[in-house]
Amino acid sequence: MILENKTAIITGATRGIGHAIAVRFAKEGCNVAFCGRTRNEKMIAVEQELSALGVKAKGYATDVADYDSAQAFVKEVLADFGKVDILVNNAGITDDSAVKRMTEEQFDRVMHTNLKSVFCMTKAIQPAMWRQGHGAIVNIGSVVGIAGNYNQANYAASKAGIIGFSKSCAKEFAARNIRVNVVCPGFIETEMTAEVPKELMATWCSRIPMKRPGTADEVAQACVFLASDMCPYITSHVMPVCGGMEDA
Ligand code: NDP
Repeated sequence: MILENKTAIITGATRGIGHAIAVRFAKEGCNVAFCGRTRNEKMIAVEQELSALGVKAKGYATDVADYDSAQAFVKEVLADFGKVDILVNNAGITDDSAVKRMTEEQFDRVMHTNLKSVFCMTKAIQPAMWRQGHGAIVNIGSVVGIAGNYNQANYAASKAGIIGFSKSCAKEFAARNIRVNVVCPGFIETEMTAEVPKELMATWCSRIPMKRPGTADEVAQACVFLASDMCPYITSHVMPVCGGMEDA
């Protein structure tokens, strides 16, 4: 088990890609602290599912886009788990619209949830990782942050911002053996993409060389690698997980 005895924080793991990452990490022996915005049945079910895999697991109700909440969340996790080796910044939203029609509120909400949250969580965990002299941060970007997309200027900007932020942190933290990498999923089947009309889904898939959407678990496998000790010299890397989509 390649993450045995490690502890990870995974944001937004109540469903979708974050949930798949939490399950993969637990199967690799990693203790998992995760969050969603509310403590509900889903969160409790994920706690039980992860605990059944033989690791320590706890869900926290946190808004990671809020600076003080992120600070309190990390403080609580450190008190409960004793240390944090890995941070996966996965929580994210979309609120699509053409720029012509996009409101300021739509732009701000996506930027705060997707990008400011990465700053808030990195700020909160950085002192502990700095003290212990090691750490792996994996930020979930998107191929849309590399290539742009129709009706997703707010989302694309937030995900492009994650790449710039991560590469800067990689430079600043490298001396303390803290690695920072980005995983950029392509089109992945989750609740977030379930609302995409079937015809549009077929058009998207036809443009993917592998001719199918990816699975959340395929993204999780890339995260396991980047979070593990299998790549001690890989930092500042942007890894697309997209079936060979153009521009990624
Ligand atoms: P989902 O909508 O399925 O899940 C999002 C998760 O984030 C939920 O657990 C949600 O929990 C949590 N969340 C949202 N906002 C907050 C917040 N402010 N604070 C804490 N938790 C929050 O999304 P996906 O699994 O599809 O996407 C996960 C990540 O992957 C996102 O960053 C997304 O941008 C990225 N991605 C997804 C792709 C796809 O095709 N699905 C493609 C490329 C990138 P709750 O609702 O309980 O608060």
